[in-house]
Amino acid sequence: MNATSADDARCSDEAPNLEQLLGDPWDAGNPFGYARGIAADERGESDECAESMLDQWQLNAEFVPLRLGGRWSCTEDMIHRLRPLFRRDAALGLGYGVTSLMAAVNVWAAGTPMQQQELSRLLLSGKKVSIAYHELDHGNDFLRNECVSYPSDTGSFFIHGSKHVINNVHRAAAWIIFARTASTPGARSHSLFLLKPDQAMPGSWHVLPRFHTSGVRACHLSGLQFNRLEAPPASLLGEQGNGAEIALRSFQVTRIVLPGMAIGMLDTGLRLAADFAMKRRLYGDTIVSLPRVRRFLSASLLDLLSMDCLVTAAARALHLAPQHASVYAAAVKYLVPSVLKESLGDLSIVLGARAYLRDGKYAMFGKLLRDIPVVGLGHAGGTVCLLTIMAQLPTLARHATNHAPLATALFEARSPMPPFDFSALSIAARGADTLLGTLASGLDVLEAAGEGGTSLARLVRELSAAFDALCSTSRRLSPAQIGPAAPAASFELAQRYALLAMAAACLGVWLIQRRDSRHPFLQNPEWVTAALARIRWRLAHGKPLTSESLDEPLALEVLRRVDDNLSFCLSSTPLHGSSHVCHQH
Ligand SMILES: Cc1cc2nc3c(=O)[nH]c(=O)nc-3n(C[C@H](O)[C@H](O)[C@H](O)COP(=O)(O)OP(=O)(O)OC[C@H]3O[C@@H](n4cnc5c(N)ncnc54)[C@H](O)[C@@H]3O)c2cc1C
Repeated sequence: MNATSADDARCSDEAPNLEQLLGDPWDAGNPFGYARGIAADERGESDECAESMLDQWQLNAEFVPLRLGGRWSCTEDMIHRLRPLFRRDAALGLGYGVTSLMAAVNVWAAGTPMQQQELSRLLLSGKKVSIAYHELDHGNDFLRNECVSYPSDTGSFFIHGSKHVINNVHRAAAWIIFARTASTPGARSHSLFLLKPDQAMPGSWHVLPRFHTSGVRACHLSGLQFNRLEAPPASLLGEQGNGAEIALRSFQVTRIVLPGMAIGMLDTGLRLAADFAMKRRLYGDTIVSLPRVRRFLSASLLDLLSMDCLVTAAARALHLAPQHASVYAAAVKYLVPSVLKESLGDLSIVLGARAYLRDGKYAMFGKLLRDIPVVGLGHAGGTVCLLTIMAQLPTLARHATNHAPLATALFEARSPMPPFDFSALSIAARGADTLLGTLASGLDVLEAAGEGGTSLARLVRELSAAFDALCSTSRRLSPAQIGPAAPAASFELAQRYALLAMAAACLGVWLIQRRDSRHPFLQNPEWVTAALARIRWRLAHGKPLTSESLDEPLALEVLRRVDDNLSFCLSSTPLHGSSHVCHQH
């Protein structure tokens, strides 16, 4: 997606609001309501009516760059516009939606103008596109993939082999296939192809049996078997041998976008848990008055806000600091799924046995518990993302700078940015680390404002020292310590980097928000102090957490947002329908 005009990436509110289309979640007849979502999950098939309403909303247009007739201009905006779908049903978000984006980004990154036009035409007419990287025998070790594509005398290629656990292949109008084009091992051994099943010779391919999953059961995963499928020269994406490089650039977008949208799942989990806690009476009072329950609710709000800060900074970095996006995207794709899982697990303690029932008022919570692991499993597991960070730690450490000016644009949610340019993305990070540099530059800001003695400044000083320590260890890492056979200690360094990136993002966002009186909750330092304390707790492997006095304002904020029917993310947006759970059940 190359630049067309200076305001290509202007974040806009002009696109239709998906939350309005999704209607009241507690309306049993609503195709996007919880009851219909759970029924679709039980059947293992999407709700047809919901899909056709998303067709009418032209959801695919979100994935098509503005210059090709779509609505993708500002990546942060795309995440915000589609998050409501994940608040309702991740199976629709992923199965109906985002896997088409995972496929399309490869074409926007490397396709010819004709390939890009062809794909945008398909997407804008509501068609699905599948991305076929994965082979069961090789998992994330995708440079060993065996599905082969060999040249013929006529200049075409023949694709032979199979792909597994691929979304939507049975109904896709196009496939992006990752296939081996050189027998020698190495980074230039594979290429990508854009093919349309309706142009393929019958008998040269068939769809393999469906895979069934524990969560997102309405997603249709199967595989493809190719038997000398002819791929004309014009189907090659980019140059022969560039498949891995194109994929690694494309992942930088999707590894931020998918977790960024999936944060919506925790929003719904927190709403259900808070509602339950406000209604469930034990020991003569509602359980929301119990300190431990308040701790779980407030911690979950903190997690949600912290993840939103990280996603905001990473999505903006795609436009503003693309030379670092590979490492920020890996931090998001490792950390967000694991925090989502942990936080939802804690909320399940609030719901107790209700979290385990597949029917009744809180059945949606059980579906969330089943669905949420997929955020971490699909499209690169956490381990691979830690490997991406780890491999870059020595370089990042060498370029770590203190006392650079605060990179305010990275944190100023929804403010205009330069257009996103795929060609500016880099496989390996270069230059000063703008996001992590915020720990030092943010501390400078606090000290200059005479706030160097606050609890917040003390935490920032501690986290900044943790980053310095990480850098000095990282500078000494040998190549063997940062490759696939790295020791567990190297993985821990990469985990610490991701947590510190989240801390830096929280601080950066707050330093912007403190000037904005429209959001008193975000303006106040209480939430960011508690968020950094929680990150420090994660870094210290569970040493004592914050004092309970920090829980209270957060627990109150959870209850206020439940009552006012507002989302729990940074933007605190109004939600559709009734504020409390299911009067009709
Ligand atoms: C719902 C869903 C939808 C999907 N849709 C698609 C799709 O549309 N297209 C597509 O191509 N694929 C798709 N996939 C496949 C998915 O991308 C792969 O399954 C996944 O990326 C590979 O995961 P794996 O656990 O099989 O990885 P593996 O590589 O087999 O890894 C297994 C585990 O080994 C350990 N491990 C691996 N490497 C190391 C190391 N160096 N050091 C230490 N431990 C290590 C880790 O714990 C890792 O999780 C989908 C999967 C799911 C679940």
